[in-house]
Formats: sequence, structure tokens, C-alpha cells
Amino acid sequence: MILKYYPYTLQLKEVFTLSSNSRSTTPIVLTEIEHDGITGYGEASLPPYLGETQESVIKFLSKINLNQFKDPFDLDEILNYVDAIDEDNNAAKASIDIALHDLTGKMKNISCREMFNLKEGKSKLTSFTIGIDSINNIKRKVENASEFKILKVKLGRGDDKEIISAIRETTNVPISIDVNQGWRDTNYAYEFTDWLTDKNILFIEQPFPVDWFDETAQLKERILIPIIADEAVKTNKDINNVKDYYSGINIKLMKSGGLREAYKMMIIAKQLGLKILLGCMTETSCGISAASQLSSPADWLDLDGALLINNDIFEGTKIVNGEVVVSNLPGIGVNKI
Ligand code: MG
Repeated sequence: MILKYYPYTLQLKEVFTLSSNSRSTTPIVLTEIEHDGITGYGEASLPPYLGETQESVIKFLSKINLNQFKDPFDLDEILNYVDAIDEDNNAAKASIDIALHDLTGKMKNISCREMFNLKEGKSKLTSFTIGIDSINNIKRKVENASEFKILKVKLGRGDDKEIISAIRETTNVPISIDVNQGWRDTNYAYEFTDWLTDKNILFIEQPFPVDWFDETAQLKERILIPIIADEAVKTNKDINNVKDYYSGINIKLMKSGGLREAYKMMIIAKQLGLKILLGCMTETSCGISAASQLSSPADWLDLDGALLINNDIFEGTKIVNGEVVVSNLPGIGVNKI
């Protein structure tokens, strides 16, 4: 097996970077694992808050020697070896996990969904993210997002009511809220979530800092809107810490280290009665198509990452009228453009 990797920079579409302080690019590293003339594709997407960089990913990937493995289907053995090279580096690990699943799916001519014995299920809606911005820009973004049946809104900057009210002047579609740990006052959270009661809210993601366990649990007990852990959970090892305090977890391949771990997290979450949100970073259709293979057990999808960029180099799973249409191609389901 031959491993190749190269850095790439995603350019965000202008409509999503209206505010002057928003980032216009996201660094990623693309991977390819080749065996017997077949190539599997993978991706490490690197939002700054997770701490990985193109340099750290390339450093990690340079330590991997896949020549020692003769059979790509020794998936567990290979991924355990990669996992043991160093701790963390989860996006780098995900880029190997995704490429290896893509390769082995293509070799067997089956999709990764079938490799995990998941049902096809009917198409699910994805939310579409409206980032932090001025009220006027948020209104413009919402008008531009009219094809989406669920909006995801970033809150936690002090103008939460203004943002929700502005969106509700334009549309009544369900809204999921992501606070990104931004609330620091339980009374504020109580008052605001009471106000949200009749606003058609699906769930609230990471309302408080990750170490505010009791505050999170008290909010969960107080309201009917589910509270979802994002920054508080990366891999299955974190689920035990959050299971009594949240209603569900946000699973992302770049946090978990790939499909194998994300699938394991889904099994555990189901057993514990936790809701599952399947999310993403700003990614190409490589990362999004890989994640979409696991969409059937998820309660909600937040797989809009590839819609935000204007230099995707893959095509696979598509978003059509706000629905995730999972690619039928083998492996993770992508072709390189
Ligand atoms: Mg989040």
C-alpha cells in the first residue's frame, strides 16, 4: 500500500464570509492510499480550534509506514497501528481511516454504509449553518438559504434574541442552535431558553463551557429542547463523561479519528439512549461523503461543509433541496473532479 498526502486550502464562498472578521479559507490535507491500482481518498480538515495544522498532520502522516501491511482488509490492525503512533492528531488519523475505508470498499465494490451493515434508509435533511454576523448579513444569509429545511444558527455573542427574531421574520423552518460554549450565565440561559419555547428549536449544542457539567444538566432538566455535546465529546471514551448531563452527542469524523470510531460511538450512543447528531467541519465532498455513509442511525445531520466552499475537488454525496442524497458509488462514494 502506498500512502500519499498533500496540503490544500479550501476557499469559502463569498456569501458566507460577509462579515469582515470571518475566515475566508480553511486548511486541509488530502490523503490517498493506493493498492493494486485502486486509490482510496481521505481528508483531514483543520479548523483552528481543534489545534491541528497542515504541518502537524503532515508530520504525523510522515511517521506512517503502510508497506508493512500486505492486506488492506486488515483494517483494525492497520488503524490500531496508526492510532498508537501518537495521541490526539484525530483529523490526521481520520484522513487515513477514510482513505482505507474508501480503498477497501472499492476493492469489494460495496459502499462503506454496506461495510458497516447499515440500512439505506430514506434521505434525511441536513441543517445549513448561518454563522455569526451582523443582523443584516444574517438576514441576507437566511434569504440565500431558502432551499434548506433546517437552519443551524451560531449564538453566544450577546445578541441571541435579535438573531433568532431576525430569522423568524424571514422563515419558520426548524432551527438548531450552536452556542459553542458561549453562555456563561445560567440565569441568562434559563430566561433565553424559556423565550425559545415557541420558536421551533430542534436542539441546543454545547450551551456552556465543557466543564460546566452540573449547569448543563440543570438546563437539560428544565427545558424540553435536547442539549447536545459537541466540544465535550470527541471519541467513545468521552461518552461516559457526558451521558448523564446531555441529551445527545455531535459525532464528527475529524474529532473521532474516522469512520470506525464514529460508528462505535453511534452504537454506544444508541445503547445509552443518547440522540445522535452527525456533523462535519468545512470539508470537501470527500469528508462529507464519508460521513454520509453513517447517516442512517443519526437523528439529525449537519453535513453542509462542502456547500460552503468554491473549490471542491470531489463529487459524491450531494445536498439536493436540503436533503442529503448519499452517493451510490463504492467506498465513501466519491470521484475526484
Ligand atoms: Mg458545534
